[in-house]
Amino acid sequence: MRIGVLAVQGAFVEHAEMIEKLGHEAVEIRKPSHLSNIEGIILPGGESTVQTCLLNRLHMTEILQEKIQMGLPVLATCSGLILLAEKLDNDNLDSLKTMPVSVKRNAYGRQVASFVTSGNFSDMEDVPMVFIRAPYITEVGSETEVLAEYKGNVVAAKYKNQLGLSFHPELTEDTRIHRYFVDEMCK
Ligand code: GLN
Repeated sequence: MRIGVLAVQGAFVEHAEMIEKLGHEAVEIRKPSHLSNIEGIILPGGESTVQTCLLNRLHMTEILQEKIQMGLPVLATCSGLILLAEKLDNDNLDSLKTMPVSVKRNAYGRQVASFVTSGNFSDMEDVPMVFIRAPYITEVGSETEVLAEYKGNVVAAKYKNQLGLSFHPELTEDTRIHRYFVDEMCK
């Protein structure tokens, strides 16, 4: 399968490596024309303000929004989740806003408050979760399924073709979440 990885800023290399490890082709996305012929897209972690600005400057916001709304499967991690959120509790970005969730940016505090834990994700157990200045989800829309929680807060949710995570699965050796995305959502 050909899976796009948004490559304007942030941890895109690690996502591409995960996709390749699973035997699929990772395509770096840097301009609108790169968005054709992909079967899914990953929005990596990084800095959501910078990513929003670059997407707008590169004229990618609307086309990406349209593709996601038409059903392009998307895996969004950390700042990627911030880009997808319809609403931010503590900010307002001119981003994609395709997923009916409310998200709190930097919900665990500053960089020093970053941490690693593990927990259940859907029916998978002991999934390692790396949180780096991570957001969490404070509200989910009616058709949105909660897939993981950490200390009572939602850290992974799925709405139709959109999967949003607070944490970074690409920074671990565990390929299960990428496999879930490709096998269950992109097929
Ligand atoms: N704190 C970052 C933001 O608000 C997200 C951090 C990350 O993606 N690891 O964009």
